[in-house]
Amino acid sequence: MKNCQPMQSRLPVTIESHQFRNRDIIGGDPALDFVNTVTGRDQSPRDWLDSYMRLLEWAAFVHLLPERILRTLAQKGRVEPRAAAAALARAKELRETLFALITGIVYGSVPTKAMLALLREHWIAAINAHELRFDDGRVVAELRNDAADFDLIASMIAYRMVEHVLPLPKDRLRICQGPNCSWLFIDSSKAGRRRWCDMAVCGNAAKSRRFYARSRQRRKSRRDE
Ligand SMILES: [Zn+2]
Repeated sequence: MKNCQPMQSRLPVTIESHQFRNRDIIGGDPALDFVNTVTGRDQSPRDWLDSYMRLLEWAAFVHLLPERILRTLAQKGRVEPRAAAAALARAKELRETLFALITGIVYGSVPTKAMLALLREHWIAAINAHELRFDDGRVVAELRNDAADFDLIASMIAYRMVEHVLPLPKDRLRICQGPNCSWLFIDSSKAGRRRWCDMAVCGNAAKSRRFYARSRQRRKSRRDE
């Protein structure tokens, strides 16, 4: 990944309501799909988490948590909307930290201590939300029945990030090179050369942009002759 600049992260973000679809889930792990709930960070960022209930919809869509816990969180969210909104803000703080952390890894910069501290805090909360049970000859980690805390979604994202995403070889972590995208994904292709979140969307957009740039250039050089 030479020739790419780190994303500008300070563009104004529009918050949109959004129905999640299969094509939104391309990261290879829910922790990256969560970061991708902001799309277009390089040009016109749109944030698809417009409420705590939307965060629950997203968590259900990617099967992040058991349904019984999601139901409890939805009930709690209706009773305590302000606490739910505060938890959404904390989840977004983690999301933006994870975007900075992963892009830093991709572009070869060192994460700050604050980034790692925030990730660790949520990761530990997720571990604390689990119990170990012996079942049918195996020890299994399961979410406790009283684990339905508003911050559980953020905690589980941090857990997946630490346990499943960050141990991957760093050249398998990618940022889509398509225009107005910046989605993160795991490149699990055999050749390890995947550049786009989705070939049909960003791959073609990038190709046609290059095609138009080239033909414009050709027209221009003909004019200049
Ligand atoms: Zn893309």
